[in-house]
Amino acid sequence: MLSRYKTMNQTIAGALPPDAISLSEEKQAMLAAIVASSDDAIISKTTKGIITTWNPAAERMFGYIEAEAIGRSIMMIVPPDRQAEEVYIIGQILQGRKIEHFETLRTTKDGRQIPVSVTVSPILNKNGVIIGASKIARDISDRHLAREKQAILAAIVSSSDDIIISKTLQGIITSWNKAAEKIFAYTEAEAVGQHISLIIPPDRLSEEDFIIGQIANGRKVDHFETIRRGKNGQDVHLSVTVSPVVDEQGKIIGASKVARDISSARHAAENKGLLTAISNTSDDTIVSKTLEGIITSWNQAAEKMFGYSEEEALGQHISLIIPPERIEEETYIISEVSSGNKVDHFQTVRKAKDGRMVQISLSVSPILDDNGKIIGASKIARDISDHLRLQEEKAQLYDEIKALNDKKDEFIGMASHELKTPLTSIQAYLQILNNDMPEERRKDFLRRTGQQVKKLNQLVSDLLDISKIEAGKLQINPEPFDICTVVRDAIELITYTSPTHTVRFQTDLNDLLVLGDSQRIEQVILNLLTNAIRYAPSSKDIDVYLSEESGLVKVGVRDRGIGIPENKLTEIFSRFYRIAENKNTSGLGLGLYLARQIIERHHGRIWAESKPGEGSVFYFTLPIEIN
Ligand code: ADP
Repeated sequence: MLSRYKTMNQTIAGALPPDAISLSEEKQAMLAAIVASSDDAIISKTTKGIITTWNPAAERMFGYIEAEAIGRSIMMIVPPDRQAEEVYIIGQILQGRKIEHFETLRTTKDGRQIPVSVTVSPILNKNGVIIGASKIARDISDRHLAREKQAILAAIVSSSDDIIISKTLQGIITSWNKAAEKIFAYTEAEAVGQHISLIIPPDRLSEEDFIIGQIANGRKVDHFETIRRGKNGQDVHLSVTVSPVVDEQGKIIGASKVARDISSARHAAENKGLLTAISNTSDDTIVSKTLEGIITSWNQAAEKMFGYSEEEALGQHISLIIPPERIEEETYIISEVSSGNKVDHFQTVRKAKDGRMVQISLSVSPILDDNGKIIGASKIARDISDHLRLQEEKAQLYDEIKALNDKKDEFIGMASHELKTPLTSIQAYLQILNNDMPEERRKDFLRRTGQQVKKLNQLVSDLLDISKIEAGKLQINPEPFDICTVVRDAIELITYTSPTHTVRFQTDLNDLLVLGDSQRIEQVILNLLTNAIRYAPSSKDIDVYLSEESGLVKVGVRDRGIGIPENKLTEIFSRFYRIAENKNTSGLGLGLYLARQIIERHHGRIWAESKPGEGSVFYFTLPIEIN
């Protein structure tokens, strides 16, 4: 160092023009030392630009050693496109002016260009004549870089969508970017210099103390979710990250705050939560899938409907629940949804995990992303098995009602016919009776008229009974009566009105008391006897049995007529039922129905046994009155 210092000293002394101001030796030595140890390049040159001194910093900065530089033109380190600058500088110098902190570029020996800050001063001789220039050049690469960096940072800060604010430890805002302007509606000019409480809702002021406390201790505050208030009083949900700002010495001088507006994210999150909640409480199945058919959501109703858990379904292809023969439906649905259309109330069948087929009504809508692009489909399915079953039941009920109605129409037709027949006969007999005729014939017509009146009477009372039954008003007046007498009376009556048939009464009993309505029971017996005569035209023998069996009285009426097919033995007791083959015999299909109603009201039972072609036996039982 010492030798270098000496060299420098000599160099300076030697290099200066002979007529330069002569300094005291001591001063010269000091100056030389300064020049030698300076971090700045210190160069002197003549007014013609010839380098006359070149210090160690110049050697380091430009790569030329002193020996290489001295005597050469200063243009050696001036980039070709900046040589005009040099001419200008020399011009200034020649006019005795100083150039200060002139930032420019210089070229190094290895061709690099370095940013320098140059201060050029004239060198005067003792007569005040300018004989050269001294040039102090400072390498400002670092500063340059820093500035570049700063410019980049500034651009980033300015263009960031995040709010970036800096403030002092006292909370005074020192910077305020565009996003902050946009979100809080305060301009940079309005915000900078204000206290940060400008945007803190009063009830959250303590947060700031906490944040500043953290920062003062060198700690960062990360993703702190809070609310700040804009100029118009609007609350903004923010996620805030606050970091200490340190100076070059590492001292904390403030805080930088990066905040992100999460209002919409919160909204989205809230919405998502809400949607999940709705989706899960919905009775309808809600499923979403990508356009490729991959299931992306599966609610609880879907789990219930199809038996697959959410875990099992997510990520699977939707064909999981589509019966193979219906897979084309999916192609249709996806093509509709891809075109932005909705598929509404599409009735189809899907397959559950256990193979069960579920009848559903589907509504499928496109799912759009933030940019409105269709990215999938949401599917709402409703189980319509019940609905369809109900519809089926309704249809069935409708059919039944229709059948009943048809039957009723048929019955009215039949009833009118049945009522009209005896009336027509009566009318005819009365006309005949109006004529003169022998007494014998007249009596016969009177008897026939009486028979038709009886028939008419029977029909009308049957119809009345039916309507009473329908209205639940069929009267039964129970009294103890002797069943043997009632049977005998009925046989007597029938024998009298139908002398064509022989009715035999077979019983071991003389009398037997039962509790019931004797007239109604007689009505039943008469009905059975009448049927026995009507449905046995070619056989004359009818037997009536009466016996007592284990607390019951059993009455039977046997004919040897056409008989009843086995599969009709029960049906004949229903209302309006008539065996189709027997329709040539007049009747309304009411007699046996009435008989059953009466017997059942007496807690008894009625039934028929028969062999087609051989005849039938009708039985009924009644509980015996215990004395
Ligand atoms: P109907 O007025 O038609 O005789 P019923 O209720 O008395 O009405 O009888 C219902 C049907 O049962 C009859 O239409 C007939 O076909 C059948 N039936 C009733 N009694 C007999 C019987 N003794 N022999 C054969 N068929 C009978």
